[in-house]
Amino acid sequence: MYPRPGVVGKATKSALAQLGTRAGRSLQRGQTCLARWYDYLRLVTVACYARPAQKAGRSAERVEDSLVILAPRDIDASVAPGETALAWLNSHSSILLMTSGATLVIDPVGVTLPRQVRPDAVVVTHSHIDHFDRALLAHWQEDTAVRVLTSPFVAARMSRKPNVLRVGDRASIGDLELLAERCEHHATEPLSLVISGPNTPTIFHPADSDPFADMARLRKEHEPQVMLFTGPSMRKALEIARLIQPRMLVSCDCDDDWEDEFTLQAKCEVPQTEVKFLRPLEIFRFRAQ
Ligand SMILES: [Zn+2]
Repeated sequence: MYPRPGVVGKATKSALAQLGTRAGRSLQRGQTCLARWYDYLRLVTVACYARPAQKAGRSAERVEDSLVILAPRDIDASVAPGETALAWLNSHSSILLMTSGATLVIDPVGVTLPRQVRPDAVVVTHSHIDHFDRALLAHWQEDTAVRVLTSPFVAARMSRKPNVLRVGDRASIGDLELLAERCEHHATEPLSLVISGPNTPTIFHPADSDPFADMARLRKEHEPQVMLFTGPSMRKALEIARLIQPRMLVSCDCDDDWEDEFTLQAKCEVPQTEVKFLRPLEIFRFRAQ
């Protein structure tokens, strides 16, 4: 069922459960997309209300009833040498990537980090509100002086200036190497990411990009083994996977029917790619091969 219990507040659970049930019964694809767009709207609400509510001193549990997506206080954030750990921090755009030498958060929106997670850096791929939570970043920068990397367009909208990333730029974050790549998306200066490291399978994160022919060059140059996908379009994900040919495509858990259809289509169209869906805060651990 979409979304998973315990992730959203009680106020939305019944409405979303009804929505998910209806989606399961009929009009699978259309209503599943509707459910995903509903998630976008929920994230907007989170971005608008989470920070003021926390500043006002409300407890996390009470804030949960106001639609805030919460991280539990404890997760197993340990990472063995040679291992890469991946998790979604919400049910859409926010991704946590950990190795034994680096912790990276991508596009945090309305999230509270588990206590054990201390990011070395945060990357914001573009300015859309389901990827860029300005108030949250300001709060993290003030609290922990965390390093933020993003496009010049997003950087200009932040009060504390981050490291600027343009297409073609590289940055080192612990034992991870980040390469900003072209992203075809209706946003200003959006970035896709190629993430690699000595002990990490190369990861491609298109970050809302439409597929484009030059993605075949990315495959040749970087041979990504893992592709992340955060958008609502199955067609877009499969087309990018066809161009990139990753060993594994990982996305966030959404809806059982949608996942079944996605997996079936992937078997037909990109048989070399295994598809995996993660529940928010489910940690997926893998190694380079
Ligand atoms: Zn976007």
